[in-house]
Amino acid sequence: MTNPWIPHTAEVIGRRREASHVHTLRIRFRDESIRRSYRFRSGQFNMLYVFGVGEVPISIVSDPDDPEILDHTVRIVGKVSAALVGLKKGEMLGVRGPYGSSWPLEESRGKNVVIVTGGLGCAPVISVINFVANRRDRYGNLKIFHGVKTPRDLLYRARFRAWEKHPDTEVYLTVDHPDREWKYNVGVVTNLFRQVRIDPQNSVVMMCGPEVMMHHTVRDLLAQGLPPDRIYLSLERNMKCAIGFCGHCQFGPRFICKDGPILRYDQIREWFVTAEA
Ligand SMILES: Cc1cc2nc3c(=O)[nH]c(=O)nc-3n(C[C@H](O)[C@H](O)[C@H](O)COP(=O)(O)OP(=O)(O)OC[C@H]3O[C@@H](n4cnc5c(N)ncnc54)[C@H](O)[C@@H]3O)c2cc1C
Repeated sequence: MTNPWIPHTAEVIGRRREASHVHTLRIRFRDESIRRSYRFRSGQFNMLYVFGVGEVPISIVSDPDDPEILDHTVRIVGKVSAALVGLKKGEMLGVRGPYGSSWPLEESRGKNVVIVTGGLGCAPVISVINFVANRRDRYGNLKIFHGVKTPRDLLYRARFRAWEKHPDTEVYLTVDHPDREWKYNVGVVTNLFRQVRIDPQNSVVMMCGPEVMMHHTVRDLLAQGLPPDRIYLSLERNMKCAIGFCGHCQFGPRFICKDGPILRYDQIREWFVTAEA
């Protein structure tokens, strides 16, 4: 897209309920030339604008090899996210993007891929899981660790079941508070690292979720011998412009909107620790 400030009109072409407050919107640009030229990388986000309400950053969760159809999974937390989730099939919204850095899919070729997520944190990693799952010959084994508070918070249940069946793929689900039907693990996501070893020499870790979870996960992975430059985190900050202009999302010397949201741990360790203190 040429002018990064101008949103382009897109139409809601489908919607799916993932959980009580979480829906996935499937959208498509109205203008055919925009649709044809638009490209994104796994992990990037769009600014979605509900006319007359406001604009928010939301990750793109669909496959980058099919950029004419864009999926965004939105959790209702406030005014704009509620208005987005309220959009019906056939209604219009504004879209600017894509923005931000992406997951290291090329750098990870031939390596084991480890995904660690918590809560809605799994939205930004859905596209990377799909990408690896659909190209198993390019990567080593795929381990997915996902933790939520209760079984009701588990999004993409059917997709986790499907991924479990892929070759060389392991899925570890955990909840803080189980119900009677829950048959997987109980406890925080980092407890899983006591049962499952990660090969520190040949793995790349990509994670997303509450920062406190990522903080503990990084500590445990480093203790297992994983090099800091093989850990990637997706960070969230309130942002407005998405192009490194307004400064709302400044993180140490970087901006989450243009240098992030995906950042390599060794490059941000100093500020990540400060942010958590
Ligand atoms: C790069 C990036 C990718 C994102 N991807 C997704 C996604 O895929 N799905 C999704 O549901 N949400 C995502 N978010 C978060 C989403 O942008 C916010 O939930 C949204 O801006 C809230 O707007 P609102 O008007 O609904 O609520 P507001 O009324 O603006 O906010 C409600 C509450 O959420 C807090 N909040 C708002 N934005 C953020 C933020 N970015 N980080 C932390 N707290 C925030 C506010 O401080 C307030 O407490 C992403 C954010 C970023 C920065």
